[in-house]
Amino acid sequence: MTESPAWQRMGSAAIVSPAPLTMAQIIGARRRIAGIAMRTPLRRSEVLSRRCGVPVYLKIETMQPTGTFKIRGAASQILALGDTERRAGVITVSTGNHGRAVAYVARALGIRCVVCLSSLVPTNKISAIAALEAEVDVGGPDQDAAYARATARAAADGLTLVPPFDHPAVIAGQGTIALEIAEDMSPVGTNLVPLSGGGLIGGIAVVAKALDPATQIIGISSARSPAMLESLKAGRPITVEEKPSLADSLGGGIGLDNAFTFPIVRNLVDQVRVVDDEEISDAIRFAFETERLVLEGAGAAGIAALLGTPPGLLPGPIVAVATGDNIDLGVWLASAAPRAPA
Ligand SMILES: *Cc1c(COP(=O)(O)O)cnc(C)c1O
Repeated sequence: MTESPAWQRMGSAAIVSPAPLTMAQIIGARRRIAGIAMRTPLRRSEVLSRRCGVPVYLKIETMQPTGTFKIRGAASQILALGDTERRAGVITVSTGNHGRAVAYVARALGIRCVVCLSSLVPTNKISAIAALEAEVDVGGPDQDAAYARATARAAADGLTLVPPFDHPAVIAGQGTIALEIAEDMSPVGTNLVPLSGGGLIGGIAVVAKALDPATQIIGISSARSPAMLESLKAGRPITVEEKPSLADSLGGGIGLDNAFTFPIVRNLVDQVRVVDDEEISDAIRFAFETERLVLEGAGAAGIAALLGTPPGLLPGPIVAVATGDNIDLGVWLASAAPRAPA
């Protein structure tokens, strides 16, 4: 990635500097979220270690309340709000998992919560959010349309927007994963991180690169909506068409007004790889057969990348973040079933 300290937004005179997100902010986030988010295990995978020729570990974020790491970022931002903001309530936009995490934290604190979703969000995720007593606002063809609704309602109703990735407190929350990994294993050769908006990989990269600049940070995106990858190639945030994918949690753009995750990813992430739905499906089945882990498509992206990588290519030890398990039962069964002979 380029080393440029600033990036130029096309079509406007604004020059936005990469937000300095510090270790101190991430350590602060960890203190705030303790008690709501879990400290998750880092578990060695014997089968993947043998295949890759170096030790491979899985960070089991599926154990979090609500089934994904998203609770870290949501708790980090909401617990940093003052009394007035908490009283008014929060609003968010989500491909499902972030909305569920925000709803969970809001309910734990007894504050109002509105979640805006596009019609691409699977019904199992919508019901899980409604079950947490959040107000659900579903509609529009994609994540960008849902985002526009959320910002408009935030302004009209005086609600605080809890963005799914592009906010320093959210990124800091996700970065707490890397603090835990460092306590359990050091040094790390390669971090494999499912990548959509970049909050997760951004937070992890800030910590991992501060501790050891040699650690490789590799983002894994869905071939069906690689918005961050295309933006990196273009040198500025751009929109890509969002197609339905087995990795529904990796859908959505990075925001044309992206201020934080794009510069962090551009400066700190070493490589972005894409995986297609067939590789993701194979990884979902593999995770169950060898690890007895149920993963959603996005959660299996790191394993999908590993299964498609020749042994010896990535420096070990490798840590793949198993990010989530919110998958519809029918979709999971279709992926986990042995593939029909061609
Ligand atoms: C949100 C999410 C991701 C991607 O995180 P970003 O911060 O948007 O890059 C990956 N996996 C799962 C399960 C998610 O919910």
